[in-house]
Amino acid sequence: MRRIAVLTSGGDAPGMNAAVRAVVRAADARGIEPYGVRDGFAGLIQGRIEPMGARSVSGILHLGGTVLGTARSPQFRTTEGRREALTHLDRAEIEGLVVIGGDGSFRGADALSREGHVRVAGIPGTIDNDLSGTDFTLGFDTAVNTALELIDRIRDTAASHQRLFFVEVMGRKSGWLALYCGLAGGATEALVPERPTDIPLLRQRVLHSFELGKRFCIVVVAEGDDAGGAYSVAERVAEGTDLDYRVTTLGHVQRGGPPNMRDRILGALLGDAAVTALAEGADRVMVGLRRGEIVRTPLERTWTHIDRIPEDLLELMDRLAR
Ligand code: ADP
Repeated sequence: MRRIAVLTSGGDAPGMNAAVRAVVRAADARGIEPYGVRDGFAGLIQGRIEPMGARSVSGILHLGGTVLGTARSPQFRTTEGRREALTHLDRAEIEGLVVIGGDGSFRGADALSREGHVRVAGIPGTIDNDLSGTDFTLGFDTAVNTALELIDRIRDTAASHQRLFFVEVMGRKSGWLALYCGLAGGATEALVPERPTDIPLLRQRVLHSFELGKRFCIVVVAEGDDAGGAYSVAERVAEGTDLDYRVTTLGHVQRGGPPNMRDRILGALLGDAAVTALAEGADRVMVGLRRGEIVRTPLERTWTHIDRIPEDLLELMDRLAR
């Protein structure tokens, strides 16, 4: 393999830059020429492919977001769009493409490889942690810690006023972030899309915890919970009670910021593993880390198979919230 390109796609996640740096330098170390694509698949369709080198990724390891840029590209969902992208890749003589993103990006990458001559490897980059084939995705750990820091601040004020707080975190389809924030943040409950929310039961639990003498009560709500967002849940829980509650939506602050140690190391490991996979002739695989081991999973499995959130952790939170 002579040339490899790397792009970031879908929602940005802390650690993407660490992975880009690792791909570029691991390729360079193997004598493979590294290239970067601007703004994900949208940039690929426009042919924005640039040569990179070890020095071009200096000083980005600690930066959040993605220096390559990312974009949603409806055009890439079409064969015509992908044909355009393949023409640019052929012209630049790129033989391998590393795609850092989520399952949507992997669907695109998979189609691209099936329709052309380029081999693809995926690196799981999303704060949602909703990809099968890796224990954790790039950005999840940092996002949880960012949300936790804010939840800790909310807890200070909740405890001072003996108040109930509903905190909405990201996760349209996945409750990983809410679950980890809830467990690590000492929440009374985490409402996740994967489990139906029982409002009367939640009301009872909240009232009971104040009766037990708790000074604060935090309910973490994933934005995609079946009972609606945090505002709607809060209104319904407080109905018919004199609960004094506040609602906070953490929103986009959860996405950015410098990657923590874990996401930097994960970026380094997976960036290197993606280059190794392509150099060894692998195609349409995602590299991941499971129980400390690098594993390769067929890209297709990332959208045909979903890792459920661990029910035992939800139960543990229930047990500890008393
Ligand atoms: P994520 O990768 O984080 O899941 P998206 O779902 O937004 O993010 O996907 C990122 C990009 O991947 C989309 O803008 C689109 O260009 C491409 N993509 C998503 N789904 C498909 C698909 N089924 N076929 C081809 N390309 C797709």
